Amino acid sequence: MDLLLTGGAGFIGSNLVRHLLVHRPEVRVTNLDLLTYAGNQENLRGLPDDGRYAFAHGDICEPGLVKELMQGKDAVLHLAAESHVDRSIQEAAPFVRTNVLGTQVLLAAALEAGVERFLQVSTDEVYGELPWVDPEETEAHRPKFTEGTPLSPRSPYSASKAAGDLLALAYHATYGMDVVVVRGSNNYGPHQYPEKLIPLMTTYALEGRPLPVYGDGMNVRDWMAVEDFCRGILAALEKGRAGEVYNFGGDSERTNLQVVKGILEALGKPEDLLTFVPDRPGHDRRYAVDFTKATAELGWTPQARFQEELGRTVAWYVENRGWWG
Ligand code: NAD
Repeated sequence: MDLLLTGGAGFIGSNLVRHLLVHRPEVRVTNLDLLTYAGNQENLRGLPDDGRYAFAHGDICEPGLVKELMQGKDAVLHLAAESHVDRSIQEAAPFVRTNVLGTQVLLAAALEAGVERFLQVSTDEVYGELPWVDPEETEAHRPKFTEGTPLSPRSPYSASKAAGDLLALAYHATYGMDVVVVRGSNNYGPHQYPEKLIPLMTTYALEGRPLPVYGDGMNVRDWMAVEDFCRGILAALEKGRAGEVYNFGGDSERTNLQVVKGILEALGKPEDLLTFVPDRPGHDRRYAVDFTKATAELGWTPQARFQEELGRTVAWYVENRGWWG
């Protein structure tokens, strides 16, 4: 199977390229990536050297390049994006360009080339926010996003991702294109650019800098190990039904404060490094993901246990100072 994967020099993309090459010997991957600030060729160091991987430096918004790369591909795994909510609040235009226009350029080229499947990688943030519930509350009292939850994105980032998802699903409805959308909760793991919560707090703590926690630190996220999401994306590629959306989550709801304290504990650093800073505008209070459909149809469940995997992630940043430094 010949794949065009976009955004493969980023956090999830680079973990996914490695996952695919290791677990699917028959797969060939062409990675189209613009190498923005978030893309790093170092993330792909040490891939199996057997000719199954190729890198194409370029922009998903360029129709000519995308058309050329699409020739002979069996499927598209679309991950390239502007991905940081805070940056989208500062300047929304690059998010609309890459996440909306770029997705449309890829869809049009995939349709023209007759690729068998287009997999749109998206986020639970498109559903908006849930009312706050203590993560310690029993399961029955913790409502979650299902695939049927109406889209209600609240940041320019999540709005642009929702638009990309809707375009992808429209290509299915309008042209009968084989499209699958996957929506993951907050990922963590190695190679995540240190602007996102876990690597930011880890690297600040390692440098002995104050850790800036937004608001009261009680915003709740569901955390999923990147390796679990990679397994989910592959399962959706191989077994998902055309035109369907699948949610993936880590079954690990935590407040931001719990996460940051967990990082300090893993590093043996004092809690007086914590500082509370003014909240992000429109900061969604809680996300939680129901992944029953992915379990039932794809046989997928998250395998990682949060505390252990957080420890492994923190250890990776300790051991790879050169990468983030
Ligand atoms: P990332 O920011 O780490 O990587 C994005 C990659 O896309 C980078 O390599 C960048 O160079 C590339 N890119 C950006 N604009 C491009 C363009 N115009 N053309 C080609 N390449 C371009 O992002 P990530 O965290 O790995 O997220 C990957 C995907 O998964 C995104 O679509 C994101 O919305 C989605 N997602 C992320 C999370 C998460 O927690 N990180 C959770 C669910 C879904």
